[in-house]
Amino acid sequence: MVINVDIQFLGAAKMVTGSNYLITTDNHKILVDCGMFQGNEEKEKMNYMDFPYDVTDIDYLILTHAHIDHSGRIPKLVREGFRGKIVCTKPTADLCEIMLLDSAKIQESDAQWENKKRLRTGQDFVEPLYTIDDARESLKYFDPYFYDQKINLNEEISIRFKDAGHILGSAIVEMWAYEGGEVTKVVFSGDLGMPGRPIIKDLEFIDSADYLVIESTYGNTNHEPFKDSTEKLIEIINRTALRGGSVIIPSFAVGRTQELIYELNKYYEYTPDIEEYMRIPIYIDSPMAVNATEVFQKNSSSFNYEARELILKGDNPFAFSNLRYIRTQEESMSLNKSSYPKVIISSSGMATAGRVRHHLKHNLWNPDNSLVFVGYQAQGSLGRILLDGASKVKLLGEEIDVQLEIYDLEGFSGHADQKTLLKWIDRFKIKPKKIFVVHGEEDQSETLAHLIEDKFNIETIVPNMRDKFNISKDDIELKKGINIEPILLQQDIENELENVYRQFGALVGRSGMLYKDKIIEKNYDELKNKLIDLQHELMDLNILLSK
Ligand SMILES: [Zn+2]
Repeated sequence: MVINVDIQFLGAAKMVTGSNYLITTDNHKILVDCGMFQGNEEKEKMNYMDFPYDVTDIDYLILTHAHIDHSGRIPKLVREGFRGKIVCTKPTADLCEIMLLDSAKIQESDAQWENKKRLRTGQDFVEPLYTIDDARESLKYFDPYFYDQKINLNEEISIRFKDAGHILGSAIVEMWAYEGGEVTKVVFSGDLGMPGRPIIKDLEFIDSADYLVIESTYGNTNHEPFKDSTEKLIEIINRTALRGGSVIIPSFAVGRTQELIYELNKYYEYTPDIEEYMRIPIYIDSPMAVNATEVFQKNSSSFNYEARELILKGDNPFAFSNLRYIRTQEESMSLNKSSYPKVIISSSGMATAGRVRHHLKHNLWNPDNSLVFVGYQAQGSLGRILLDGASKVKLLGEEIDVQLEIYDLEGFSGHADQKTLLKWIDRFKIKPKKIFVVHGEEDQSETLAHLIEDKFNIETIVPNMRDKFNISKDDIELKKGINIEPILLQQDIENELENVYRQFGALVGRSGMLYKDKIIEKNYDELKNKLIDLQHELMDLNILLSK
């Protein structure tokens, strides 16, 4: 018997955006990610093209994480007839709610802007890629799970999420395809994070795979340690403040901004003897970042140990005395009226849109100011242009001199670097027989692919857009039936469940919550899933009671 699975690459092939892979088995079609193409006009046009498959045929969309280059075309997918389920982790579902609505708002206002221009020249109007209503409608299809829960999608496919350590909720997808008693395992790395980051847990290692699809955003780059970047950032802020300047930080509203807040909270609250005048105001100027911070707080049961401990101790890591959250446009505009030193953290992270462009317009010319990049800058984006040393840029209809100091703090990157990617592959106990290298500019992907071949002697493929591969018997012989995961016995799980119920029992009196009925599932997977659900609920309850 041969497992008949096709994988087709329909985005993030020799580029970093537009993630979208189609998995076809005998009876089912499944997507992994449905992201938006981003970076410049040419790429953005690709968002308007028809999906290269019949969307009504798709049973499931498996979503690795909430970033728009992985989730951004979901509202379009639903509007065009997708009626399956969008399976992802719970924090990803919560983050998508704000990210997709925000994305829709941008689509609507871009179309409005374009139509104003077209009205003057008598051209036909354009439609937005999708509307706020489309985005809201698409949220109904989300079906969230926790990490480690086994999800049986249908008789041919099961999946499980592992923590990718990239942003809150980000997942590696383990996918098992079954046919005639045979099983093939495909692993999708999603976006992998750097270990040792604030708030979220480290990326998890995977034991085995027959095939691997791996990202390569930094396949040709190594980052400096996160700690060095944090120290540099604080040094830049202090140095800029002392000469009377302000610091502008274009930052992704979801993830990076919360990490910055978390680190600044640690600095301002736990460093003794900071002079009062050095506590310059830190503004978070992005309504989405404000909303995202709320979603983070709601999902603290998924945080790493340090962050959970801070919260249980009673410190809110997203609040300190000189931190201000800005919501309205008026407040945002007024930030540039005063020349008092300050830090403005604003989106978008690549300065391609959003409020940060206003702040750049008002601050680029002043040599006392600093501009700090804390994330990936795609080719063609304003961020990349500034980083490459442009002396003048066109911004909101004006040509602006670039005089301020520009820094690139690579250590903040949310993506695993070359060393981390290779180590992650090395930790597979049973190595994949073939590795598809995706989600990177071509030179990054090619470099990583060559390194993998040299180091592990594994065949690699850097697919082109629309390339399709069949996993068939002609392939190198499949290693199957080796289960090397440490298996908890059903009895262990039942004991652990008893333990969790006991802890609930001790807390319900204080919380006023109803005691939960014990449900003992028969099926091993369901039992384990239930245990994971309850462990999260228990943590949430602990956090709630600690406040
Ligand atoms: Zn990402």
